[in-house]
Amino acid sequence: MKYVFGPVSSKRLGQSLGVDLLPSKSCTWNCLYCQLGKTRNFVTERQEFFPRQEILEEIRQSLKVSTNLDWITFVGSGETLLYKGIGWLIAETKKLTTVPVAVITNGSLLYLPEVREELLFADALLPSLNAGSEALHNRIDQPASGLTFQQHVEGLIAFRQEYKGRLWIEVMLLGGINDSDEALHDLASVLKQINPDMVHLVLPTRPAPEQQVQLPTPERLERAIAILSEIATVVNPLKGSMDLRNAADLCEAVTAIVSRHPVQQRELQKAIADCFPDDSAKVEEVMLELFATGRFKLVEHNGEQYWVMRME
Ligand code: SF4
Repeated sequence: MKYVFGPVSSKRLGQSLGVDLLPSKSCTWNCLYCQLGKTRNFVTERQEFFPRQEILEEIRQSLKVSTNLDWITFVGSGETLLYKGIGWLIAETKKLTTVPVAVITNGSLLYLPEVREELLFADALLPSLNAGSEALHNRIDQPASGLTFQQHVEGLIAFRQEYKGRLWIEVMLLGGINDSDEALHDLASVLKQINPDMVHLVLPTRPAPEQQVQLPTPERLERAIAILSEIATVVNPLKGSMDLRNAADLCEAVTAIVSRHPVQQRELQKAIADCFPDDSAKVEEVMLELFATGRFKLVEHNGEQYWVMRME
């Protein structure tokens, strides 16, 4: 297969079939933490890099052999939205399967109305926002000339207003760079304007060739979770997919996560137990209350119980 890979298993998207739409490395940014190495030549012009029919055919073939998928994820060896025709691919993929479609992107082209329009039928969009100020954005993401922080934020805000799917903003937390209280408060204030459904904190745990980035300390990570949780549910990168301790509304937070991918019952119990460290009886009570909402159902897979959404 040239374009389709996986399924890969991740904490954030469960079992996901990946579709790579770009030649490596085609990007509008040159992030400090990029696992693909430095961006030698920026690409900012959208193109149909590979024939869309060829890509769709691979998706069709892969769906015949891949079962138990939670997501089909469009992602690129660079910036995914540079692929002109992604909207067509999303629409055609959705004709082939009921598996939801996610798009991972840096979000730098969302300021373009035609790009936003192409994404309206995706079930989830995961764009990046690593800074709440122009200076830090330029330091971390190093965008191509002509792409500004203001454009990036305005694109995200406009998209949120038009988009009915799930908007999960990805924040790469870099030790000593964007993990100070000031940087986190700046970020929170921009996130507030955007109003995402969730914030996914991610860490530079994988090697980034030619780059030097540090993990944040556990204290700074906790601080980031506390500050950003005031805006939206935050997915803690160290705690599986669930950290409910700062959730304003437990039921809404669990719904937001279970609607993304099935959650092991054991993991949910553990996350709830973390919310009530001095009251072990509370776990059972909260689990029953959540189940009584009628939003969820239990399914068994490989001997494990999972919570999934109950469809209407
Ligand atoms: S947006 Fe992604 S591919 Fe582009 S430089 Fe940043 S991490 Fe690398």
